[in-house]
Amino acid sequence: MAKLRTVKGMNDVLPGEIERWHRLEQAFRDRAERYGFAEVRTPLVEHTELFERGIGEATDIVDKEMYTFTDKAGEGKSGKRLTLRPEGTASCVRAYLQHNVQGQEPVTKWYYLGPMYRRERPAKGRYRQFYQAGCEVYGDPGPYVDAELIDMLVGLLGELGVRDVEVLINSLGGATTRTRYREALLAYLRPRAAELSEDSQRRLERNPLRVLDSKAPQDQEIAAGAPRVLDFLSDEDAAHFDGLRATLDALGTPYTVEPRLVRGLDYYTRTLFEVRGRGGELGAQNALCGGGRYDDMIAQLGGKPTPAIGFALGIERLLLAMGPADAEAGLDAFLAAQRPEDRPAVLVLARTLREAGLRVETDLRGNSLKSQLRRADKSGARFAVVLGEAEQTQGTAKVTDLRQQNAERREIPQAELVEALRA
Ligand code: ATP
Ligand code: MG
Repeated sequence: MAKLRTVKGMNDVLPGEIERWHRLEQAFRDRAERYGFAEVRTPLVEHTELFERGIGEATDIVDKEMYTFTDKAGEGKSGKRLTLRPEGTASCVRAYLQHNVQGQEPVTKWYYLGPMYRRERPAKGRYRQFYQAGCEVYGDPGPYVDAELIDMLVGLLGELGVRDVEVLINSLGGATTRTRYREALLAYLRPRAAELSEDSQRRLERNPLRVLDSKAPQDQEIAAGAPRVLDFLSDEDAAHFDGLRATLDALGTPYTVEPRLVRGLDYYTRTLFEVRGRGGELGAQNALCGGGRYDDMIAQLGGKPTPAIGFALGIERLLLAMGPADAEAGLDAFLAAQRPEDRPAVLVLARTLREAGLRVETDLRGNSLKSQLRRADKSGARFAVVLGEAEQTQGTAKVTDLRQQNAERREIPQAELVEALRA
């Protein structure tokens, strides 16, 4: 029989590695909540139409990366087309509209964290199931909140030890700017169409901006000479972009203006940003985080016009950028029984210590004291605690500090044990 394995591009995360995930997730949650965001959880599966309309059909994601299937049909009905979510923004907007959050508060700040699915070619930092942590703000037109979001992100990366990063910003302008820019871009690209990649040729008329975001070398070469969207901004768009820059300056957040930054999703307007990492084990997949403003999406999906901005951070890539882990905090104590009949007393004591918040392990299989103490040594626990007949009658325990060479065994009253093991 063939060995059972994970689906290509999807990974297990085992103990030993998961601790770094927890650290990252906790840091993200804590920071997001300090900045006034609340968590939202949406289903992993949505109606395909949500992504087609929300992300845009002429994008890599919708065009070729989605896991879509037809659900089993009910009696006399045809099955619905469903998709494993490839990103979080469209689902958040759907939830925002479905629950009429719009009518309840002027500004909404949400964060999410979870797996996303894209049928991409797997590589280091590129998987078919990967995790994103993201933030969305509804109801604030910016530019101050745009800068705050970017600054919050840079702060998170710094907290996790990722300081060698580059923040790229650009503005795509609003609807009128985009129409004018689109025409100029098309005028530049059409005579060069034959030299573009197949994908870009196919999408040229529908979405010429995508050519600028293409990873194909021949497209990148042509994109380098293309007109710059910043030269087409309306006065309002330009003022918004200046406001973003001035606020980032005031916050002391370094950034680079990258006029060719467009990014993969169709829905962006005005502010666009990407954070790239340079250190760690990132390699070619160096985009840690992408984000931008999408002021038109909520109206397009049937809501009343509401400005919005968000970002999504790739967790696996951030873990690569973080480099190898520091030593994790391990067990506080390993409890051992002198004799087999001392095991129930060991369990009672272990429960008390665990209830008090200590990390405690025991070996309940019935091995000799010597073998239990060998496991205590290997476990990396700070203390070994032994209970025998004498200790039980006296209400004490024998405690050895495993991090000290030739440490003496101390007899400690059980009532003082929690304090002693916390030391
Ligand atoms: P890329 O240009 O690398 O394909 P993207 O533009 O498709 O990225 P977004 O959709 O903006 O990426 O997603 C935000 C972040 O999610 C990325 O910056 C990256 O860190 C992460 N990410 C995207 N796709 C993958 C993937 N297939 N595997 C792992 N992480 C990913
Ligand atoms: Mg991609």
